Amino acid sequence: MAVPASVLLSQYAVRCALLPLMLLTPVVAMAQSASPDSMATSFAQAETPRVVEGDILVSSSANKTRSIGLAKASSLWPDGIVPYRLDASLSNSGVIAVTQAVEYWNKVSGITLVSLDEWPAGQARPTDSVVFQDGDGCASWVGRRGGEQEIWVAANCNAGSMMHEIGHLLGLEHEHTRPDRDQHIQIHWNNISADKQHNFDVAPAGTRLLGDYDYASIMHYGPMNFSANGLPTITPLVDTEDTMGQRIAPSAGDLAAVAELYAADLSIVTTMASEADLAQVSLHVSNRGLQGAHQILVEVAFGDGELLAHSGEGWQCRSDETGLASCELARLSGGSNSQLVLELSGSLSSGDIQAQVSSKTPDDDPENNADSVAQEPAQGAANALEDPTVTEVTTTITQLGAASWVWLLLSGLLLHRLTGEWIYRQATDRVERLRRWRRSVLRVVSRVR
Ligand SMILES: [Zn+2]
Repeated sequence: MAVPASVLLSQYAVRCALLPLMLLTPVVAMAQSASPDSMATSFAQAETPRVVEGDILVSSSANKTRSIGLAKASSLWPDGIVPYRLDASLSNSGVIAVTQAVEYWNKVSGITLVSLDEWPAGQARPTDSVVFQDGDGCASWVGRRGGEQEIWVAANCNAGSMMHEIGHLLGLEHEHTRPDRDQHIQIHWNNISADKQHNFDVAPAGTRLLGDYDYASIMHYGPMNFSANGLPTITPLVDTEDTMGQRIAPSAGDLAAVAELYAADLSIVTTMASEADLAQVSLHVSNRGLQGAHQILVEVAFGDGELLAHSGEGWQCRSDETGLASCELARLSGGSNSQLVLELSGSLSSGDIQAQVSSKTPDDDPENNADSVAQEPAQGAANALEDPTVTEVTTTITQLGAASWVWLLLSGLLLHRLTGEWIYRQATDRVERLRRWRRSVLRVVSRVR
Protein backbone atom coordinates (compact mmCIF):
# COMPACT_ATOMS: atom_id res chain seq x y z
CA MET A 1 0.00 0.00 0.00
CA ALA A 2 3.05 2.25 -0.38
CA VAL A 3 1.68 4.27 -3.28
CA PRO A 4 -1.77 5.05 -1.85
CA ALA A 5 -0.18 5.93 1.51
CA SER A 6 2.11 8.49 -0.06
CA VAL A 7 -0.78 9.94 -2.05
CA LEU A 8 -2.76 10.22 1.14
CA LEU A 9 0.09 11.82 3.02
CA SER A 10 0.39 14.53 0.43
CA GLN A 11 -3.33 15.09 0.72
CA TYR A 12 -3.05 15.43 4.49
CA ALA A 13 -0.29 17.95 4.03
CA VAL A 14 -2.44 20.10 1.76
CA ARG A 15 -5.42 19.62 4.00
CA CYS A 16 -3.68 20.42 7.24
CA ALA A 17 -2.00 23.48 5.74
CA LEU A 18 -5.39 24.61 4.58
CA LEU A 19 -7.41 24.05 7.71
CA PRO A 20 -6.14 26.92 9.91
CA LEU A 21 -6.58 29.29 6.99
CA MET A 22 -10.14 28.12 6.50
CA LEU A 23 -10.97 28.65 10.14
CA LEU A 24 -9.62 32.17 10.12
CA THR A 25 -10.84 33.49 6.83
CA PRO A 26 -13.97 31.85 5.45
CA VAL A 27 -16.06 35.04 5.45
CA VAL A 28 -13.37 37.16 3.84
CA ALA A 29 -12.71 34.44 1.30
CA MET A 30 -16.33 34.35 0.27
CA ALA A 31 -16.50 38.09 -0.20
CA GLN A 32 -13.36 38.09 -2.29
CA SER A 33 -13.99 35.11 -4.46
CA ALA A 34 -17.72 34.77 -4.97
CA SER A 35 -19.29 36.19 -8.08
CA PRO A 36 -21.88 38.96 -7.61
CA ASP A 37 -24.67 36.46 -8.33
CA SER A 38 -23.60 33.90 -5.77
CA MET A 39 -22.83 36.59 -3.21
CA ALA A 40 -26.32 37.93 -3.60
CA THR A 41 -27.69 34.45 -3.12
CA SER A 42 -25.57 33.79 -0.08
CA PHE A 43 -26.36 37.06 1.60
CA ALA A 44 -30.03 36.73 0.72
CA GLN A 45 -30.01 33.82 3.15
CA ALA A 46 -29.46 36.49 5.82
CA GLU A 47 -26.28 35.09 7.31
CA THR A 48 -22.74 34.17 6.45
CA PRO A 49 -21.75 30.65 7.49
CA ARG A 50 -18.83 29.83 9.72
CA VAL A 51 -16.75 26.65 9.56
CA VAL A 52 -16.47 23.93 12.22
CA GLU A 53 -14.54 20.64 12.18
CA GLY A 54 -12.41 22.03 9.38
CA ASP A 55 -14.92 21.87 6.55
CA ILE A 56 -18.51 21.96 7.82
CA LEU A 57 -20.45 25.14 7.15
CA VAL A 58 -22.77 26.10 9.99
CA SER A 59 -25.05 29.00 10.72
CA SER A 60 -23.16 31.78 12.46
CA SER A 61 -26.21 32.64 14.55
CA ALA A 62 -27.10 29.22 15.94
CA ASN A 63 -25.43 26.37 17.75
CA LYS A 64 -24.81 23.48 15.46
CA THR A 65 -26.88 20.38 16.02
CA ARG A 66 -24.83 17.45 14.85
CA SER A 67 -25.52 13.85 14.06
CA ILE A 68 -23.62 11.15 12.27
CA GLY A 69 -26.39 10.80 9.80
CA LEU A 70 -29.15 13.36 9.90
CA ALA A 71 -32.17 12.03 11.73
CA LYS A 72 -34.56 14.58 10.26
CA ALA A 73 -36.12 13.58 6.93
CA SER A 74 -36.60 17.29 6.22
CA SER A 75 -32.83 17.69 5.96
CA LEU A 76 -32.48 15.01 3.30
CA TRP A 77 -32.89 15.56 -0.43
CA PRO A 78 -36.38 14.66 -1.70
CA ASP A 79 -36.50 11.36 -3.61
CA GLY A 80 -32.69 11.14 -3.37
CA ILE A 81 -32.22 13.77 -6.09
CA VAL A 82 -29.81 16.68 -5.55
CA PRO A 83 -30.09 19.55 -8.05
CA TYR A 84 -26.83 21.48 -8.49
CA ARG A 85 -25.05 24.04 -10.61
CA LEU A 86 -21.42 25.01 -11.13
CA ASP A 87 -20.74 28.67 -10.40
CA ALA A 88 -18.75 30.75 -12.89
CA SER A 89 -16.24 31.46 -10.10
CA LEU A 90 -14.97 27.85 -10.14
CA SER A 91 -11.42 27.23 -11.33
CA ASN A 92 -10.82 24.69 -14.10
CA SER A 93 -9.38 22.23 -11.58
CA GLY A 94 -12.42 22.86 -9.37
CA VAL A 95 -14.77 22.01 -12.25
CA ILE A 96 -12.86 18.77 -12.88
CA ALA A 97 -12.84 17.80 -9.19
CA VAL A 98 -16.57 18.46 -8.76
CA THR A 99 -17.49 16.70 -12.00
CA GLN A 100 -15.50 13.58 -11.08
CA ALA A 101 -16.96 13.51 -7.56
CA VAL A 102 -20.53 13.96 -8.82
CA GLU A 103 -20.12 11.25 -11.44
CA TYR A 104 -18.67 8.87 -8.85
CA TRP A 105 -21.46 9.33 -6.32
CA ASN A 106 -24.05 8.99 -9.11
CA LYS A 107 -22.47 5.74 -10.24
CA VAL A 108 -22.01 3.96 -6.92
CA SER A 109 -24.91 5.18 -4.79
CA GLY A 110 -28.69 5.38 -4.95
CA ILE A 111 -28.43 9.18 -4.99
CA THR A 112 -28.45 11.23 -8.19
CA LEU A 113 -26.98 14.71 -8.41
CA VAL A 114 -28.66 16.38 -11.39
CA SER A 115 -27.24 19.46 -13.08
CA LEU A 116 -29.81 22.24 -13.30
CA ASP A 117 -28.64 22.67 -16.91
CA GLU A 118 -30.08 19.21 -17.57
CA TRP A 119 -33.17 19.50 -15.38
CA PRO A 120 -36.09 17.68 -17.08
CA ALA A 121 -38.27 20.14 -19.00
CA GLY A 122 -41.51 18.65 -17.68
CA GLN A 123 -40.52 18.92 -14.01
CA ALA A 124 -40.97 22.00 -11.82
CA ARG A 125 -37.70 23.79 -11.02
CA PRO A 126 -36.55 22.80 -7.53
CA THR A 127 -36.53 25.41 -4.77
CA ASP A 128 -33.61 23.72 -2.98
CA SER A 129 -30.30 23.18 -4.74
CA VAL A 130 -26.52 23.35 -4.42
CA VAL A 131 -24.02 25.70 -5.99
CA PHE A 132 -20.38 24.62 -6.17
CA GLN A 133 -18.43 27.86 -5.93
CA ASP A 134 -14.92 29.11 -5.35
CA GLY A 135 -13.90 29.33 -1.71
CA ASP A 136 -10.83 29.34 0.49
CA GLY A 137 -11.01 25.65 1.31
CA CYS A 138 -13.36 22.75 0.72
CA ALA A 139 -16.50 23.02 2.86
CA SER A 140 -20.17 22.11 2.88
CA TRP A 141 -23.29 22.34 4.97
CA VAL A 142 -24.52 19.03 6.38
CA GLY A 143 -27.73 17.93 4.68
CA ARG A 144 -30.29 20.03 2.82
CA ARG A 145 -30.62 23.51 4.21
CA GLY A 146 -33.35 25.07 2.05
CA GLY A 147 -32.90 27.45 -0.88
CA GLU A 148 -29.60 27.47 -2.73
CA GLN A 149 -26.74 26.33 -0.48
CA GLU A 150 -23.05 26.52 -1.22
CA ILE A 151 -20.17 24.08 -1.32
CA TRP A 152 -16.76 25.75 -1.32
CA VAL A 153 -14.27 24.48 -3.84
CA ALA A 154 -10.78 25.94 -3.52
CA ALA A 155 -8.42 25.46 -6.44
CA ASN A 156 -6.59 22.68 -4.60
CA CYS A 157 -9.70 20.66 -3.64
CA ASN A 158 -9.43 17.34 -5.47
CA ALA A 159 -12.10 14.82 -6.50
CA GLY A 160 -11.67 12.88 -3.24
CA SER A 161 -12.20 15.93 -1.05
CA MET A 162 -15.25 16.84 -3.12
CA MET A 163 -16.61 13.30 -2.56
CA HIS A 164 -16.17 13.99 1.18
CA GLU A 165 -18.05 17.32 0.89
CA ILE A 166 -20.87 15.64 -1.05
CA GLY A 167 -21.02 13.11 1.82
CA HIS A 168 -21.76 16.08 4.14
CA LEU A 169 -24.26 17.45 1.61
CA LEU A 170 -26.17 14.16 1.69
CA GLY A 171 -26.33 14.26 5.50
CA LEU A 172 -23.18 12.49 6.73
CA GLU A 173 -21.12 13.84 9.63
CA HIS A 174 -17.50 13.11 10.47
CA GLU A 175 -17.07 9.48 11.47
CA HIS A 176 -14.72 10.30 14.36
CA THR A 177 -17.48 12.30 16.13
CA ARG A 178 -19.68 9.22 16.60
CA PRO A 179 -20.80 8.79 20.23
CA ASP A 180 -19.17 5.31 20.27
CA ARG A 181 -15.85 6.53 18.85
CA ASP A 182 -13.91 6.07 22.13
CA GLN A 183 -14.34 2.32 21.75
CA HIS A 184 -12.55 2.50 18.38
CA ILE A 185 -10.08 5.38 18.35
CA GLN A 186 -7.90 7.29 20.75
CA ILE A 187 -7.81 11.07 20.56
CA HIS A 188 -4.39 12.45 21.52
CA TRP A 189 -5.45 15.73 23.08
CA ASN A 190 -1.85 16.71 23.90
CA ASN A 191 -1.07 16.85 20.20
CA ILE A 192 -3.94 19.23 19.41
CA SER A 193 -3.69 22.91 20.22
CA ALA A 194 -6.37 24.10 22.62
CA ASP A 195 -8.24 26.23 20.10
CA LYS A 196 -8.64 23.28 17.70
CA GLN A 197 -9.86 20.68 20.19
CA HIS A 198 -13.53 21.43 19.47
CA ASN A 199 -13.01 19.68 16.12
CA PHE A 200 -12.86 16.41 18.05
CA ASP A 201 -16.06 16.88 20.07
CA VAL A 202 -18.36 13.89 20.18
CA ALA A 203 -21.79 14.34 18.65
CA PRO A 204 -24.53 14.83 21.25
CA ALA A 205 -26.69 11.93 22.45
CA GLY A 206 -29.69 11.04 20.34
CA THR A 207 -27.85 11.20 17.03
CA ARG A 208 -28.41 8.49 14.46
CA LEU A 209 -25.69 5.87 14.12
CA LEU A 210 -25.52 4.26 10.70
CA GLY A 211 -23.74 0.91 10.64
CA ASP A 212 -20.58 -0.11 12.46
CA TYR A 213 -17.65 2.20 13.17
CA ASP A 214 -15.82 2.60 9.85
CA TYR A 215 -12.10 3.48 9.82
CA ALA A 216 -12.26 3.42 6.01
CA SER A 217 -15.01 6.05 5.82
CA ILE A 218 -14.31 8.98 3.53
CA MET A 219 -15.89 10.99 6.36
CA HIS A 220 -13.15 9.97 8.85
CA TYR A 221 -10.38 12.38 9.82
CA GLY A 222 -6.81 11.37 9.04
CA PRO A 223 -4.36 10.56 11.88
CA MET A 224 -2.57 13.89 11.54
CA ASN A 225 -5.51 16.29 11.18
CA PHE A 226 -5.14 19.38 13.41
CA SER A 227 -1.80 18.20 14.76
CA ALA A 228 -0.02 21.01 16.61
CA ASN A 229 3.32 19.21 16.93
CA GLY A 230 3.62 16.77 14.03
CA LEU A 231 2.44 13.84 16.15
CA PRO A 232 -0.78 11.91 15.52
CA THR A 233 -4.07 13.30 16.79
CA ILE A 234 -6.07 10.10 16.19
CA THR A 235 -4.93 6.47 16.33
CA PRO A 236 -7.11 3.35 15.97
CA LEU A 237 -7.52 1.16 19.07
CA VAL A 238 -7.31 -2.02 17.01
CA ASP A 239 -5.08 -3.11 14.16
CA THR A 240 -6.80 -2.23 10.95
CA GLU A 241 -5.84 -2.45 7.31
CA ASP A 242 -8.22 0.38 6.50
CA THR A 243 -6.60 3.71 5.68
CA MET A 244 -7.95 6.20 8.18
CA GLY A 245 -8.71 9.52 6.55
CA GLN A 246 -8.70 8.26 2.97
CA ARG A 247 -10.01 10.68 0.36
CA ILE A 248 -10.10 8.27 -2.57
CA ALA A 249 -13.76 7.18 -2.66
CA PRO A 250 -16.75 6.59 -0.36
CA SER A 251 -16.26 3.32 1.56
CA ALA A 252 -18.73 0.45 1.56
CA GLY A 253 -19.81 1.72 4.98
CA ASP A 254 -20.41 5.24 3.59
CA LEU A 255 -22.56 3.84 0.79
CA ALA A 256 -24.51 1.69 3.26
CA ALA A 257 -25.05 4.73 5.50
CA VAL A 258 -26.39 6.82 2.62
CA ALA A 259 -28.54 3.89 1.49
CA GLU A 260 -30.01 3.64 4.99
CA LEU A 261 -30.71 7.38 5.14
CA TYR A 262 -32.40 7.50 1.74
CA ALA A 263 -34.08 4.05 1.50
CA ALA A 264 -37.57 3.89 0.03
CA ASP A 265 -39.86 0.84 0.22
CA LEU A 266 -41.45 0.00 -3.10
CA SER A 267 -44.03 -2.75 -3.49
CA ILE A 268 -46.18 -3.99 -6.36
CA VAL A 269 -49.57 -5.73 -6.62
CA THR A 270 -50.66 -7.12 -9.98
CA THR A 271 -54.19 -7.96 -11.15
CA MET A 272 -55.56 -8.99 -14.54
CA ALA A 273 -58.87 -8.97 -16.35
CA SER A 274 -59.10 -10.85 -19.64
CA GLU A 275 -61.62 -11.55 -22.36
CA ALA A 276 -60.95 -13.68 -25.44
CA ASP A 277 -57.41 -12.78 -26.52
CA LEU A 278 -57.24 -9.38 -24.81
CA ALA A 279 -55.96 -8.76 -21.30
CA GLN A 280 -55.73 -5.74 -19.09
CA VAL A 281 -52.97 -5.97 -16.47
CA SER A 282 -53.16 -3.45 -13.61
CA LEU A 283 -49.97 -2.78 -11.67
CA HIS A 284 -50.32 -0.94 -8.40
CA VAL A 285 -46.94 0.44 -7.31
CA SER A 286 -46.64 1.84 -3.78
CA ASN A 287 -43.82 3.49 -1.92
CA ARG A 288 -44.42 2.65 1.75
CA GLY A 289 -41.14 4.27 2.83
CA LEU A 290 -40.66 7.75 4.26
CA GLN A 291 -38.17 8.63 1.52
CA GLY A 292 -39.07 9.05 -2.11
CA ALA A 293 -37.62 6.91 -4.88
CA HIS A 294 -36.37 7.82 -8.35
CA GLN A 295 -35.72 6.01 -11.64
CA ILE A 296 -38.46 3.49 -10.93
CA LEU A 297 -38.56 0.52 -13.28
CA VAL A 298 -41.43 -1.95 -13.60
CA GLU A 299 -40.73 -5.05 -15.69
CA VAL A 300 -43.65 -7.25 -16.70
CA ALA A 301 -43.14 -10.67 -18.29
CA PHE A 302 -46.31 -11.75 -20.11
CA GLY A 303 -45.41 -14.73 -22.29
CA ASP A 304 -46.63 -14.90 -25.88
CA GLY A 305 -48.55 -11.65 -25.94
CA GLU A 306 -48.04 -8.22 -27.38
CA LEU A 307 -48.14 -4.88 -25.60
CA LEU A 308 -50.86 -2.83 -27.32
CA ALA A 309 -51.00 0.23 -25.09
CA HIS A 310 -50.27 1.50 -21.60
CA SER A 311 -51.72 4.16 -19.34
CA GLY A 312 -50.67 5.68 -16.02
CA GLU A 313 -49.49 9.19 -15.17
CA GLY A 314 -45.81 9.71 -15.90
CA TRP A 315 -45.15 6.12 -17.02
CA GLN A 316 -43.16 5.39 -20.19
CA CYS A 317 -43.28 1.81 -21.47
CA ARG A 318 -41.56 -0.14 -24.19
CA SER A 319 -41.68 -3.77 -25.17
CA ASP A 320 -39.45 -6.04 -27.19
CA GLU A 321 -40.51 -9.25 -28.90
CA THR A 322 -39.65 -11.53 -25.99
CA GLY A 323 -42.85 -10.86 -24.07
CA LEU A 324 -41.34 -8.36 -21.67
CA ALA A 325 -42.55 -4.82 -21.04
CA SER A 326 -40.27 -2.28 -19.34
CA CYS A 327 -41.94 0.78 -17.85
CA GLU A 328 -40.23 3.75 -16.20
CA LEU A 329 -41.42 6.44 -13.83
CA ALA A 330 -39.12 9.35 -12.90
CA ARG A 331 -40.01 9.72 -9.20
CA LEU A 332 -42.40 8.34 -6.58
CA SER A 333 -42.40 10.21 -3.29
CA GLY A 334 -42.59 8.51 0.11
CA GLY A 335 -46.05 7.31 1.17
CA SER A 336 -47.53 7.63 -2.31
CA ASN A 337 -48.59 5.23 -5.04
CA SER A 338 -49.04 5.05 -8.77
CA GLN A 339 -51.21 2.96 -11.08
CA LEU A 340 -49.96 1.52 -14.37
CA VAL A 341 -52.26 -0.37 -16.76
CA LEU A 342 -51.03 -2.48 -19.67
CA GLU A 343 -53.29 -3.60 -22.53
CA LEU A 344 -52.04 -6.91 -23.90
CA SER A 345 -53.10 -9.13 -26.77
CA GLY A 346 -52.50 -12.86 -27.26
CA SER A 347 -53.73 -16.06 -25.68
CA LEU A 348 -52.60 -15.14 -22.18
CA SER A 349 -53.34 -17.07 -19.06
CA SER A 350 -53.12 -15.32 -15.74
CA GLY A 351 -50.19 -17.52 -14.71
CA ASP A 352 -48.10 -15.96 -17.49
CA ILE A 353 -48.00 -12.53 -15.89
CA GLN A 354 -45.10 -11.71 -13.59
CA ALA A 355 -44.14 -8.21 -12.55
CA GLN A 356 -41.37 -6.69 -10.48
CA VAL A 357 -40.44 -3.17 -9.44
CA SER A 358 -37.03 -1.67 -8.74
CA SER A 359 -35.50 1.79 -8.54
CA LYS A 360 -32.13 3.47 -8.35
CA THR A 361 -33.07 4.35 -4.77
CA PRO A 362 -32.22 1.53 -2.35
CA ASP A 363 -35.19 -0.44 -1.03
CA ASP A 364 -35.86 -1.12 2.65
CA ASP A 365 -37.79 -4.33 1.99
CA PRO A 366 -37.09 -6.01 -1.37
CA GLU A 367 -39.41 -8.92 -0.41
CA ASN A 368 -42.51 -7.13 -1.69
CA ASN A 369 -41.05 -5.96 -5.01
CA ALA A 370 -42.42 -8.77 -7.19
CA ASP A 371 -45.91 -10.11 -7.84
CA SER A 372 -47.56 -12.47 -10.26
CA VAL A 373 -51.19 -13.01 -11.19
CA ALA A 374 -52.25 -16.27 -9.57
CA GLN A 375 -54.45 -18.76 -11.46
CA GLU A 376 -57.10 -18.38 -8.78
CA PRO A 377 -57.63 -14.97 -7.21
CA ALA A 378 -55.23 -14.64 -4.29
CA GLN A 379 -56.26 -13.35 -0.90
CA GLY A 380 -53.85 -10.43 -1.22
CA ALA A 381 -55.31 -9.36 -4.53
CA ALA A 382 -58.34 -8.04 -2.68
CA ASN A 383 -56.22 -5.08 -1.63
CA ALA A 384 -55.35 -4.16 -5.18
CA LEU A 385 -56.67 -0.97 -6.56
CA GLU A 386 -59.53 -1.77 -8.89
CA ASP A 387 -59.57 -0.43 -12.35
CA PRO A 388 -62.84 1.53 -12.43
CA THR A 389 -63.50 0.90 -16.13
CA VAL A 390 -63.13 -2.86 -15.88
CA THR A 391 -65.21 -3.00 -12.70
CA GLU A 392 -68.03 -0.96 -14.19
CA VAL A 393 -68.27 -3.06 -17.34
CA THR A 394 -68.18 -6.43 -15.56
CA THR A 395 -70.71 -5.31 -12.94
CA THR A 396 -73.15 -4.35 -15.69
CA ILE A 397 -72.66 -7.75 -17.37
CA THR A 398 -73.26 -9.54 -14.06
CA GLN A 399 -76.47 -7.64 -13.37
CA LEU A 400 -77.83 -8.32 -16.83
CA GLY A 401 -76.87 -12.00 -16.53
CA ALA A 402 -78.65 -12.46 -13.20
CA ALA A 403 -81.85 -10.74 -14.35
CA SER A 404 -81.97 -12.75 -17.57
CA TRP A 405 -81.34 -15.95 -15.67
CA VAL A 406 -84.28 -15.43 -13.30
CA TRP A 407 -86.58 -14.29 -16.09
CA LEU A 408 -85.73 -17.25 -18.32
CA LEU A 409 -86.10 -19.77 -15.49
CA LEU A 410 -89.62 -18.53 -14.77
CA SER A 411 -90.42 -18.49 -18.49
CA GLY A 412 -89.14 -22.05 -18.78
CA LEU A 413 -91.37 -23.29 -15.97
CA LEU A 414 -94.37 -21.55 -17.44
CA LEU A 415 -93.65 -22.93 -20.87
CA HIS A 416 -93.29 -26.43 -19.41
CA ARG A 417 -96.77 -26.24 -18.04
CA LEU A 418 -98.25 -24.75 -21.17
CA THR A 419 -96.43 -26.42 -24.02
CA GLY A 420 -94.85 -29.57 -22.65
CA GLU A 421 -91.56 -31.33 -22.17
CA TRP A 422 -89.81 -30.33 -25.44
CA ILE A 423 -90.06 -26.63 -24.88
CA TYR A 424 -89.01 -27.06 -21.23
CA ARG A 425 -85.81 -28.83 -22.28
CA GLN A 426 -84.97 -26.06 -24.68
CA ALA A 427 -85.40 -23.52 -21.93
CA THR A 428 -83.34 -25.40 -19.33
CA ASP A 429 -80.55 -25.89 -21.87
CA ARG A 430 -80.50 -22.17 -22.30
CA VAL A 431 -80.51 -21.66 -18.55
CA GLU A 432 -77.49 -23.98 -18.24
CA ARG A 433 -75.61 -22.00 -20.87
CA LEU A 434 -76.44 -18.81 -19.03
CA ARG A 435 -75.20 -20.33 -15.80
CA ARG A 436 -71.88 -21.18 -17.40
CA TRP A 437 -71.64 -17.68 -18.82
CA ARG A 438 -72.47 -16.18 -15.45
CA ARG A 439 -69.81 -18.30 -13.72
CA SER A 440 -67.14 -17.10 -16.18
CA VAL A 441 -68.20 -13.50 -15.67
CA LEU A 442 -68.02 -13.93 -11.90
CA ARG A 443 -64.50 -15.34 -12.20
CA VAL A 444 -63.41 -12.20 -14.07
CA VAL A 445 -65.12 -9.98 -11.50
CA SER A 446 -63.48 -11.74 -8.55
CA ARG A 447 -60.06 -11.47 -10.20
CA VAL A 448 -60.56 -7.75 -10.67
CA ARG A 449 -61.59 -7.40 -7.02
ZN1 LIG B 1 -15.74 17.18 6.52
